Amino acid sequence: MKLIVLSGPGGVGKSTVISYLRANESKVWVSVSATTRSPRAGESNGIDYYFLSDAEFDKWIAEDKFLEWADFAGARYGTPKQFVDQHLKDGKSVLLELEISGARQVRAKNPEALLVFLAPPSWEELAERLLKRGTDSEERRISRLALARAEMAAQGEFDLTLINTSVEEVAQRLISLALD
Ligand code: 5GP
Repeated sequence: MKLIVLSGPGGVGKSTVISYLRANESKVWVSVSATTRSPRAGESNGIDYYFLSDAEFDKWIAEDKFLEWADFAGARYGTPKQFVDQHLKDGKSVLLELEISGARQVRAKNPEALLVFLAPPSWEELAERLLKRGTDSEERRISRLALARAEMAAQGEFDLTLINTSVEEVAQRLISLALD
């Protein structure tokens, strides 16, 4: 059993890979994070995230419930540690999908964790995807690009990089890494 962290820049397709694994793979347990952001269309509490108020998130921090947590794009995100510990104890492999600072925190606490970076086929493709996304203002799109560039620069800190050419291929690589 293994603890695997999947990270990478915004817009690279991490959550598509995660949804695919949740739907198609039972041997790897995908952690459900807590967040203070609002649910998006189609997201359910307890499945995609535990949606918490700021006060509830504060309480979880005070009660030491998080393996790691971080501020990202105006909201807080954290990994509830109890379920992660339980699944590892039960012999399951566990996959966490985190932004970069969460990945660093896991590395510091669990040096045996495998850190996987999901990269786009090219910077141009990622930039195009981020610029097209949603109904964001020009300013937000530019700040998202700047953030993605900074996130891309962290690639060297990871144990390995997977290029997101196909969701199925990335998912299969993650499954074989987890069950190896
Ligand atoms: P989104 O709001 O798009 O679902 O997620 C925003 C970012 O937060 C993504 O990069 C995602 O990987 C990251 N994220 C999701 N859950 C967690 C978590 O529990 N901890 C940390 N550090 N990042 C998370």
